[in-house]
Amino acid sequence: ALVVRHRMRSSGKWARAMAILREFEERCGTPIGKLRQVADAMTVEMHAGLASEGGSKLKMLISYVDNLPTGDEKGLFYALDLGGTNFRVLRVLLGGKEQRVVKQEFEEVSIPPHLMTGTSDALFGFIADELAKFVATEGEGLHVSPGRQRELGFTFSFPVKQTSLASGNLIKWTKGFSIEDAVGQDVVGELTKAMERINLDMRVAALVNDTVGTLAGGKYYNEDVIAAVILGTGTNAAYVERAHAIPKWHGLLPKSGEMVINMEWGNFRSSHLPITEYDQSLDVDSLNPGEQIFEKIISGMYLGEIVRRVLLKMAEEAAFFGDTVPPKLEVPFILRTPHMSAMHHDTSSDLRVVASKLKDILEISNTSLKMRKVIVELCDIVATRGARLSAAGVFGIIKKMGRDTVRDGEKQKTVIALDGGLFEHYTKFSSCMESTLKELLGDDISENIVIEHSNDGSGIGAALLAASHSQYLEAEES
Ligand code: BGC
Ligand code: MG
Repeated sequence: ALVVRHRMRSSGKWARAMAILREFEERCGTPIGKLRQVADAMTVEMHAGLASEGGSKLKMLISYVDNLPTGDEKGLFYALDLGGTNFRVLRVLLGGKEQRVVKQEFEEVSIPPHLMTGTSDALFGFIADELAKFVATEGEGLHVSPGRQRELGFTFSFPVKQTSLASGNLIKWTKGFSIEDAVGQDVVGELTKAMERINLDMRVAALVNDTVGTLAGGKYYNEDVIAAVILGTGTNAAYVERAHAIPKWHGLLPKSGEMVINMEWGNFRSSHLPITEYDQSLDVDSLNPGEQIFEKIISGMYLGEIVRRVLLKMAEEAAFFGDTVPPKLEVPFILRTPHMSAMHHDTSSDLRVVASKLKDILEISNTSLKMRKVIVELCDIVATRGARLSAAGVFGIIKKMGRDTVRDGEKQKTVIALDGGLFEHYTKFSSCMESTLKELLGDDISENIVIEHSNDGSGIGAALLAASHSQYLEAEES
């Protein structure tokens, strides 16, 4: 009788764990009708954000980029890319239409975590130091002409209210950053001060968001690129808008008639979004509660953390991992999205990658195959929701641009440049996002709309924009 009772109890626990999983799955549902509502809400918010300052959760920031690269850009330029856990410095020699990128060199440096929540001086000081080291490696083939000031395109992947192409004030931090004394400051001013402190003579010629850099880099290689999306630590999109469709823009109408808009779609929210109790508590515990809600259900910084939170609940309320809760499972952000991705892509019949991740990261051993299958399913639920919602966001942009229908039987190509570690490395995520976009577009149009991986296009993009706004340009042209 004892044995029977014990079995019943453990099968009761299993049932309880499955109930938690099924309820989560149900609340994460993204049927196509819901995705259409999300896309429509996105276009409504795009209009509202363009109409007036503060008119929407979508900031729809004016980038001051009214001309994208043509291919004619020439000369040696630097770029600096700050936004995730790493930053990159880049040196590129542009050779004009025929030669394009003649040569490039880069270095990637990881940012010491304490600098992400310290002071502005400490962060920009560190960046300037690393930049100076890189400049010092300027070699034979790749160096600026004597007497010429070095020029830099600065990719800064946070919301900035630009005051010109090469200046702008930080609106807020996102992702893992929180440096209070930098909020409201001109980030180009902060970087320039830090460079002056160490006598690094360099001029910031362009300040761009990573989405804008990716758009510029994408357009340089493919004329049909009209929007860019980042799916990485954070998420965001930029696209080319008609200048007269931006009521809040009171400046001169650019000659091109166009303006690149940095949407800051990570801050999108809508009653149509499938939000669960786990998302709510993740938000409350985050560095930026109430902000970046779309980002918190889509991007790489958060997906693994959502999985951890659901597993913790299963451990606490259904003894999923046995009678005690594994202590590591209680550590926020311990389960990172790359770990989740590795488990999700495990094709071995005994799910040994899942077993090893559980052991190495969470110090959980002795899981059954049945349990490991549940964990893979959980990863699938979280990744699928994020991928399908990002497809809905892209569809919203395509609709706003009027490219969701075939016009006069004309087959106009629309290319969207995509970048970011989540898109690049989490295959199940990117393929789900692409197939969902096709589903939303329908057969008639889906072959005209292409997603192109733009590998680290944002650095080159920033260098290209620095080149087309070089202080030496007019002198050289005349
Ligand atoms: C930032 C955006 C950025 C995106 C991708 C978001 O958290 O707010 O400015 O483009 O991450 O890096
Ligand atoms: Mg890359």
